[in-house]
Amino acid sequence: MADPFALPKAIFLDRDGVLNKERGFISDPDQLEPTEGILEALRAWKKRGFLLLVVSNQSGLARGLYSFDDLQAIHAKLRKFCGRLLDAIYVCPHHPDQGNSPLKRPCPCRKPSSGMLTQALRDWRLSPARCLLLGDAPRDLVAARSLGIQAAVMMGPKLASPEQWPVDLAPQPKFLPNLKAAVDWTDKVMEDA
Ligand SMILES: [Mg+2]
Ligand SMILES: [Zn+2]
Repeated sequence: MADPFALPKAIFLDRDGVLNKERGFISDPDQLEPTEGILEALRAWKKRGFLLLVVSNQSGLARGLYSFDDLQAIHAKLRKFCGRLLDAIYVCPHHPDQGNSPLKRPCPCRKPSSGMLTQALRDWRLSPARCLLLGDAPRDLVAARSLGIQAAVMMGPKLASPEQWPVDLAPQPKFLPNLKAAVDWTDKVMEDA
């Protein structure tokens, strides 16, 4: 039974390559395909009391590849196949040097910067020690590590094996082959805490 007095805890989830398949820039809901086992994983985390917070770089907005309306339609589909279990979706629309709009600017939210995470920590009154992050690219983990948030990699096109982890970003994180393994990892980390 959930303890109503327990401190909140959260799992930060990258979008592309974690919740849905990595396909490059996604500009239409039709291109958004759920990762195998996503609903089961999200249900398992919800059952354990985690907030589920998405943190996603979406420089396609700065680049003019899609609009905020397009993104809203994409996220409507995302929320649906995620069983309406996502508590929030944080997005960085910027890019430091691509595009032709006011969104082309350096910002503190684009991963590997930690702005989306610090915003979410404030919004949800979370301690980094009670958060975990799942990403599929080095920049996801760099953002988490800078705040002391434990993080692991979902293996995919961006990081197909542990050997591909950049040497300058040692130590090598835990690599997870699928979402079932991700749930096992979060269970293990919480058990050890
Ligand atoms: Mg990704
Ligand atoms: Zn940004």
